[in-house]
Amino acid sequence: MKLFEQQELQLYNSLTKSKEKFQPIHEGAVGMYVCGPTVYSNVHMGNCRTFLSFDLVFRYLKHLGYKVRYVRNITDAGHLENDGESGDDPILKKARLEQIEPMEVVQKYSVDFHNVMGKFNALPPSIEPTATGHIIEQINIVQDIIKKGYAYEINGSVYFDVVKFNEDHAYGKLSGRVLEDMIANTRELAAQSEKKNPQDFALWKKAEPQHIMRWPSPWSDGFPGWHLECTAMSTKYLGNQFDIHGGGMDLKFPHHECEIAQAEACNETSPVNYWLHANMLTLNGKKMAKSTGNNILPNELFSGENDILSKAFAPTAAKFFMYQAHYRSILDFSNDALEASEKGFHRLMDAYRSLENIATGSSSSFDVSQWRQSCYDAMNDDFNSPILIAQLFDASKQINTIKEGKGSITKEDLIVLKQTMYDFLFEVLGLVDYTSEGGDDTNKLSGAVELLISLRNEARANKDFATSDKIRDQLLEVGIQLKDGKEGTTYSLN
Ligand code: AMP
Ligand code: ZN
Repeated sequence: MKLFEQQELQLYNSLTKSKEKFQPIHEGAVGMYVCGPTVYSNVHMGNCRTFLSFDLVFRYLKHLGYKVRYVRNITDAGHLENDGESGDDPILKKARLEQIEPMEVVQKYSVDFHNVMGKFNALPPSIEPTATGHIIEQINIVQDIIKKGYAYEINGSVYFDVVKFNEDHAYGKLSGRVLEDMIANTRELAAQSEKKNPQDFALWKKAEPQHIMRWPSPWSDGFPGWHLECTAMSTKYLGNQFDIHGGGMDLKFPHHECEIAQAEACNETSPVNYWLHANMLTLNGKKMAKSTGNNILPNELFSGENDILSKAFAPTAAKFFMYQAHYRSILDFSNDALEASEKGFHRLMDAYRSLENIATGSSSSFDVSQWRQSCYDAMNDDFNSPILIAQLFDASKQINTIKEGKGSITKEDLIVLKQTMYDFLFEVLGLVDYTSEGGDDTNKLSGAVELLISLRNEARANKDFATSDKIRDQLLEVGIQLKDGKEGTTYSLN
C-alpha cells in the first residue's frame, strides 16, 4: 500500500460541522455510500456535479492506496413527492405519460445515466444496487423498527414514529433542526394525514389500485419508502457502521436525517462516521432542478444545443470547470465561465505535452518536491480541487519558463514533475486530454466549424454571398446549423 505517511487526510464532516482527520474503521479500507439518481428523467448537469464530486473522492482515496468499496444505488421505486401525501411516484407518472412499463422508464434513464457518467470518465462504483432488488431487505428493516417500538402500522402503511424516537435519540442532529419547531410549523397539516404526526415518514406505503409498482408485505401490497432503501442497501453491503456517506446538500434533510433515525432505531449505533455533502450547481443563481426546468442536460452541453451556449463543450472541459470550485461551494453555471475553464485546460494540456521535449540541466529553478507536496496538501484538505488546479497551473507556468530558456530542471525533477502531473490530471481528477491527436472529436469538430464560420464571415465581408450561403447550406445538410446573433455566429448540431 502506498499511503503517504506524512500526509493526513482531513474531511469536512457535516455531522460535526468540522474538519476531521480521516480514520477508516478498517485500516487501509474504506466503505463509501452515495445516494444515486432517481431514474425517471435524464440527469442534468447539477446531478452530474454531485456524482463527479464523489468520483473525485473515490479516485483520490484509491490514489492514496485505500481499498475502496463504493456503493451507489439506483432509485427505481419509492421516491415519492411529499412522502406520498400528495403527488405520485415520478417513475409511474412518466410511465403513464409515455405509455410504457415503469421498468422501461427505469431502464431508459439508467442507461442514459451510465452513458453520461462514461462520457465524463467517472469510474463505475463497486456495487450499484437497485431499490426494487432489495424489497425483502427493506421489509426486514421495517419489521425490526416496529419490533423496537419506533414505527406503527395504520391502514396497511407503516410510519416511523419520529416523536417516540426523539424521546431517547436526537432526531435532527445532522440537519440541525429541532423537532419541536418542526411540529409547531406543521400543526395545520396534521389533521389531513393518517400519520400521528406530520414529521413521521413512510417506511412502507399501501399501494392504491392504480399504483402498479407493488410488492406483497405483512402489512399490504405496497412499496417501500425512499429513505428506507438507502439504509437497507448501505448496511447490507457496508455493514451497520461504515466510513463515508455522501450525497447532495439537498438530501441532508429529510433523507439523510431519516436514514440515521432508521439505522439507530435498529442498531443503536450511528451508521456513518463521516457525512459528506456536495453543494449545488446553479443556473441564473437558482438551483438546477428537474422539476423547474431550470437545468442544462449533459448532451446539450456536448452538442451546443442550448440557447445559453455559444458552442459545444467537451465533457472534460465541463468537468474541469466544475473542479475549479470546491465541492462544498455553490457553483453557478455560465457559458463564459465554461469558456474560460476550457481555455485554461488547453493551456494546461499544452504545458503537460511539452514536458516530452524539455531539455534538462544540472539544477532546477523550482522546487518540484515542495510543489508536489502542495498538490497533496490541497487534496488532503477536504479534497480542495481548486487549490490543486492552481498548483497545476503554477507548474505549467514553470514548465513554460523552462521551455523559454529562462529556467532549468534536472532529469530527476523532471521525472517527478511528469509523474505528479500525470497522477493528478488523469488519475485523481480523471480528466481526458481531448485536445491532443486522437483525443475527443468534439474539439476537432468545433475547430473545423469555427474555421468555416470565419471563411463565411470573410465571404460576407467581400459581398460574396454565393460562397457564404454555400457554406451555411452545406453545413446544414450535414446536420450543423449556423445561428447569426448579436455576438457573432454560433452553431448547433441537429
Ligand atoms: P435525484 O435524482 O433527484 O435524487 O438527485 C440525484 C443527486 O443529484 C442527489 O445527490 C442530489 O442531491 C443531486 N442534485 C440535484 N440537484 C442538484 C444540483 N442543482 N446541483 C448539484 N447536485 C444536485
Ligand atoms: Zn439515499
